[in-house]
Amino acid sequence: MTIFAKIIRGEIPSHIIYEDADVFSFLDIMPIARGHTLVIPKEAAVTLDQLSEKSAAAIGRALPRIARAVLAATGATAFNVLQNNGAIAHQAVDHVHFHIIPKYDDASGLGIGWPAKKLEDGEALAQAIVAKL
Ligand code: AMP
Repeated sequence: MTIFAKIIRGEIPSHIIYEDADVFSFLDIMPIARGHTLVIPKEAAVTLDQLSEKSAAAIGRALPRIARAVLAATGATAFNVLQNNGAIAHQAVDHVHFHIIPKYDDASGLGIGWPAKKLEDGEALAQAIVAKL
């Protein structure tokens, strides 16, 4: 069982922000900005691609509401939503989670590397992905 499953069950304490039948939200214990909040499904999926449509819909409903509350409480006007899948993508806890990370100025919050490149064979790639939907 992951540490987030234990937090949902109340076996490990957390600063709870929100809970409904499918969603749980709490403050990140090592915030990279004030108000850094995690939003997780109660379903024990490891990565986003494994999440059921029911949980995905519930998370989708909750995220904007929780983001609005974080902004209102902290005074931040900008934020990033980060969602890591897989160890090489910096996922440390094997339970789907969305980070809501306020951005107060250039130096605070999430720093992003964005190594943009030219799109090669876009149409073939798009068709390959569409065929898998
Ligand atoms: P990630 O790298 O996307 O897997 O992020 C995992 C996040 O979980 C990190 O930001 C941690 O600080 C956070 N975290 C780990 N344990 C706890 C905990 N017990 N309570 C709150 N947040 C936690």
